[in-house]
Amino acid sequence: METFDVVIIGGGIVGSSIAWHLTDAGCRKVLVIERESAQGKGSTGKSMGGVRAQFSTAVNIQMSLYSIPFYASFDERLGHPAGYRPQGYLFVATRDSHLAYLSDNFERQKSLGLRDARLLPAREIIDMLPQLRSDDILGGSFCSTDGFVDPYSAMNGFMASAVEKGATLWKKTEVSGIVTDANGIAAVETSRGRVSTRVAVNASGPWAAETAKLAGVELPVEPLRRMLVPSEPYDDFPHSSPMVIDMSNGFHFRPEGRGFLLAWNDPEETPGYKPDFEPSFIEKILMRAANRVPAFENLAVNPKRAWAGWYEMSPDHHAILGPVAQVPGFFLANGFSGHGVMHAPATGKILSDLILTGRTDVVSDVSVLGFDRFAKGALLHETAIL
Ligand SMILES: Cc1cc2nc3c(=O)[nH]c(=O)nc-3n(C[C@H](O)[C@H](O)[C@H](O)COP(=O)(O)OP(=O)(O)OC[C@H]3O[C@@H](n4cnc5c(N)ncnc54)[C@H](O)[C@@H]3O)c2cc1C
Repeated sequence: METFDVVIIGGGIVGSSIAWHLTDAGCRKVLVIERESAQGKGSTGKSMGGVRAQFSTAVNIQMSLYSIPFYASFDERLGHPAGYRPQGYLFVATRDSHLAYLSDNFERQKSLGLRDARLLPAREIIDMLPQLRSDDILGGSFCSTDGFVDPYSAMNGFMASAVEKGATLWKKTEVSGIVTDANGIAAVETSRGRVSTRVAVNASGPWAAETAKLAGVELPVEPLRRMLVPSEPYDDFPHSSPMVIDMSNGFHFRPEGRGFLLAWNDPEETPGYKPDFEPSFIEKILMRAANRVPAFENLAVNPKRAWAGWYEMSPDHHAILGPVAQVPGFFLANGFSGHGVMHAPATGKILSDLILTGRTDVVSDVSVLGFDRFAKGALLHETAIL
């Protein structure tokens, strides 16, 4: 039986970042187990790749304050590209309540050290993007270091660099059991046999609840379908544009290749492993697109190129990070609720810190993301879910 210091269950961007941060800290006997024949077949390969620090809760802002500079220096540090493009996120407010919300967030972001966010008057938004329908725009906020990464490249970069530093990746290997003894985690059962370890990390994305169950833990994470629609090449809107979020209805879009990537979180969507893109979504999203950008009336999309993936939703839309008190050695990195790519660097550092030293200073109080918050009723509140 092989022995590892840490076994990570799931080889998406989160598992890969944890492996990299552990090996970077000198912990080399790290095994990542991925059941698919290739990495990226879970949520990571379906992501929109948006990264932002414009959040409302302190812990989410602090996760981004670690992650975005990390992405900015990723290529240099890891020797692999992450495709970071700091084109910004522009929140477009159409109600006074939006302005109040953005202004509160802005003060919190500033107090935590974010220097690049600004509140914008309507005039500046219209000057920035005259293609937007502006009769209802009241103002907004913009952060120039927000932007996009290529999730697939970042995941591969993390893993390739972790392997260069000594980590092991097993693909086409399924974790089917977690063995405990009086001291907590003792081993992990896999389709290649049993692996001995005292630390197992759940990095199983939308399947996190099933993995937790193997250790006897009821984890409140469920998959929720999200759909993205790429346009055909289109030049009547600037390709240097930020991610634009229409706060009137949550429609958002960003440049992608020679076209644009359109997103909208349908409030009628219900949880479950629904793998297929729903063709009727095209009409819903194009209606919202043309409503904010009249020129998008002429935007062509090919339904065959549209796709669906799953957010891993937690009850309060915040990640669940850290140890599980009742199973010593079992760690969670789950429930990112649509933010797992942008928060993967911080998650890797936090998990590595907690596993190796029991504490972290990436965020001022990591216990707010602890699994026990659900039993205590200490839920967080984040309304800006995109
Ligand atoms: C449409 C869409 C748009 C998104 N847009 C954004 C965005 O703009 N910005 C952002 O930050 N996030 C975004 N997200 C969310 C983001 O993609 C996820 O939060 C992130 O990819 C989660 O990474 P992960 O590594 O935890 O999960 P995954 O990538 O799903 O990886 C989990 C892995 O675990 C493996 N696994 C599971 N169970 C087992 C087992 N028993 N044995 C072995 N392997 C197992 C799976 O095969 C999978 O590869 C988006 C998601 C979707 C679907």
